[in-house]
Amino acid sequence: MKKIFFLTLAGMASLQLSAQNIDKIITREYTDHLIKTLSSDEMQGRATFTPGIDKAATFIESEFKKIGLQPLTGEKTFRQTFNKYQVANQSTSVKIDGQEIALENIMVTGVTTESVTLDKSNTTIVKLDPEKPFVAQFRTMLNTNKNQIVLVDNKFADLFNRYKDHFSKPTTVDEKDVNATNSAVQVFILGKDAATDFSATFKSKVTQMPLFNVAGMIPGKSKSKELVVFSGHYDHLGVMKSVEGDSIANGADDDASGTTAMIALAKYYKAQKNNERTLIFVAFTAEEIGGFGARYFSEKLNPDDVVAMFNIEMIGKDSKFGKNTAFITGYDKSDFGKILQKNLAGTEFTFHPDPYIKENLFYRSDNATLAALGVPAHTISTDQIDVDKFYHTVKDEYSTLDVENILSTIKAIAKSATSIVNGTDTPTRIPKLK
Ligand SMILES: [Zn+2]
Repeated sequence: MKKIFFLTLAGMASLQLSAQNIDKIITREYTDHLIKTLSSDEMQGRATFTPGIDKAATFIESEFKKIGLQPLTGEKTFRQTFNKYQVANQSTSVKIDGQEIALENIMVTGVTTESVTLDKSNTTIVKLDPEKPFVAQFRTMLNTNKNQIVLVDNKFADLFNRYKDHFSKPTTVDEKDVNATNSAVQVFILGKDAATDFSATFKSKVTQMPLFNVAGMIPGKSKSKELVVFSGHYDHLGVMKSVEGDSIANGADDDASGTTAMIALAKYYKAQKNNERTLIFVAFTAEEIGGFGARYFSEKLNPDDVVAMFNIEMIGKDSKFGKNTAFITGYDKSDFGKILQKNLAGTEFTFHPDPYIKENLFYRSDNATLAALGVPAHTISTDQIDVDKFYHTVKDEYSTLDVENILSTIKAIAKSATSIVNGTDTPTRIPKLK
């Protein structure tokens, strides 16, 4: 009895000690410093391919260095750099039955090369049915692997213009897709209902652009081949249309809050010095424009070595379950959530399954790439995505955040990950997507 009594006392003492440590390591001052810097106007909204995101990367690198992380195996620095190619339209010319079509009535998709010429030898003319919905027909066209001139009724002008806005922006493609001979070009023409003869030329500029994740690690003591990943995306939308004189989308919640959590967790585990598994901390780039950073990261390692991924997205405001709660996407796809919840027993914090199943959040963040490869990779969030009026607006800034919510969520993640970090729990795998 006595022995057990003393053991219990010792156990309680060490629990208390780690609880003290966590409050000393993950302080309000520290998280404030991280999130204020990442969401400052100086970073210009951290859009991928801009000087603003470069500044954010430099800041995260300096924090990793201060904490004492190491670069990933095989890397010399914390930057994990890779290239993409931007294809920007330079000129467009479409003639139908001898008549030049006005630029505002032309929308082009699928150009990945410096110049394209379409004529009857390589292209067919089709027409959208004005009696059927636009969006479904538009999607079908995009999936047709053929060059097409698509005639669109004036009745669809509103939707046409909205889609045209999107597709007129430069597109980002992989090297293998530049000059890809199999990529089909679709030319949508508004306000024409018949055509027999046509010719079209498109000239674009293709530019190589570097992107970079920022990643560091703490090698595991006894199970160093088993990896646990903590992540958040540090890119955001950059500069948008001005609202009340503000045009910088600071992305304080999305996802400076998650990036802050990832850095604070690195600081915490580095101080604990008790991780049996190797811990990787990564700030992903280009989440907002297609998840390119997470995809590149997943190609640089063997997904079978990743035991779990904690991706953190938007923890800046109370969740719909109230104070001291957060939700986990894809909760039922592995027992990751149950393990986390078990480790929080006796605390005031609880994790819940994602309440926004219709929003498809599991596949909308950077966990999706590794999850598709079989990793129990989940996103932890507190965002009320259905009613969050600041989401993807210039108002997503520091002043709209509840820093206490961020602090309590980070500490809950730190505690809930303990048994995965020390190698005693291994979440079940998610079935691989074929
Ligand atoms: Zn996000």
